[in-house]
Amino acid sequence: MDMRAARYHGPGKPLSIEKVPVRPLRMGEALVRVKAAGICYTDTHFLTGVLNLGIHPLTLGHEIAGEVADLSAAAQSLRVGDRVLVYYYATCGQCHWCRTDRANLCPQVVAEYGFTADGGYAEFVIVPAANLVKLPGDLDLLEAATLGCSVTTAIHAARTIADLRLGETAVVYGAGGVGFGLIQFCKLAGARVIAVSRSPGKRAKASQLGADAVVDGSGDVGRAVRDLTAGEGAEVVFELVGSKVTMAHAVNALRRRGRLVFIGYSNDLFVANPLQLVIGELTVTASVGNTFDELLQAVALAAARKITPVVDRAVSLEELPATLEALREGKIIGRAVVVFP
Ligand SMILES: [Zn+2]
Ligand SMILES: [Zn+2]
Repeated sequence: MDMRAARYHGPGKPLSIEKVPVRPLRMGEALVRVKAAGICYTDTHFLTGVLNLGIHPLTLGHEIAGEVADLSAAAQSLRVGDRVLVYYYATCGQCHWCRTDRANLCPQVVAEYGFTADGGYAEFVIVPAANLVKLPGDLDLLEAATLGCSVTTAIHAARTIADLRLGETAVVYGAGGVGFGLIQFCKLAGARVIAVSRSPGKRAKASQLGADAVVDGSGDVGRAVRDLTAGEGAEVVFELVGSKVTMAHAVNALRRRGRLVFIGYSNDLFVANPLQLVIGELTVTASVGNTFDELLQAVALAAARKITPVVDRAVSLEELPATLEALREGKIIGRAVVVFP
C-alpha cells in the first residue's frame, strides 16, 4: 500500500508531496490513519536549518491525531477505529530519565515522530501502540491534534520547569501555539499573565484567552512589563522567540529571583552580563517537549473545556508548504492543521 506524504529533504529544500510505501507493522506497533496534524513552528526550523538533526528524507509533523487503522497482534489495549493522539517520543523506558518521569530527556530515545522518524504529514503513521492516547468522544480530532505539542509543551514549561505559583506574574513572550497554551494554563494555575506579541491579531486572541495585559512586542518590552508590575518585573518569563532583541527584553522584564524559561530559539546567542543575573539572583532555564503524563493532562484539560486549542485554519497536505511560509511570516494565529478527508 502507498500513501501520500510531505517529505523533507534537508535544510533549504522545499517539502515535496510524494507517494511512499506503508511498511508492515512490527510487534507492538499501530497503524494510525492520520486525520489531523498540527503545524508547529519547529517545522520551519527544519526547513531553514536552524534545527538540523541530519535525518532525511523524512516525513515531518509531530502533532498527530487520527484513527487506529491496524494493530500488530501484540497491541491489545486498543481497537481498530479508536480515535487517538500520538505521544511523539518513543523512549527507551530503561534509563534514569525514563524511570524518573522525565522521558523527554531520554538520551537513548528510539524515535521521535516528526523529528527523527516519519511523522504525521502523511495519510498514515506507524507508532508503538503504547504511544497512543485514546481520545474522549467529544474532543474534535482537529483540536486534539494541537494538544500533542503546543498545549503539552506549555504544561511542561509552566508546571514542571517554571514551577509557577499562585499569584505570580508570568510573561508569555511570543503568542504562537505554545504561547496560547501557556496563557490559558498560567491563568488556570492562578498566575497573572502578560502576553507579548507584535501582531495586533495575536494580542487580541491573547486577551480573549484570558491574558490580564498585552504588550506590543515591537516596543520596549522590559519597560512595559515593569510598568505593569509597579516597577518590580515578572516572576517568570517564558521566552518563545529567542532572538537577540527578545532575549535582552526578557531579562529586563524579570523580577528579583525571577526565572527565565527558554522554549523558543533562533540562531542568535544568549548574551548576558553575569552581574545582571547576580544582582537579581536570576535563574535561566529551559523547557523541551513533554512527558506522557503531561500529554494526558493536556487531553483532560481540553476535554473539560478548561483549555481551548486555538486553530486558525485547516489545510490540505498540498497546502502545507505555503502554510509553513505563512506561519514564518507571523500570519497564523494559533495552529494551522493539515487535515485528511
Ligand atoms: Zn512542536
Ligand atoms: Zn530512556
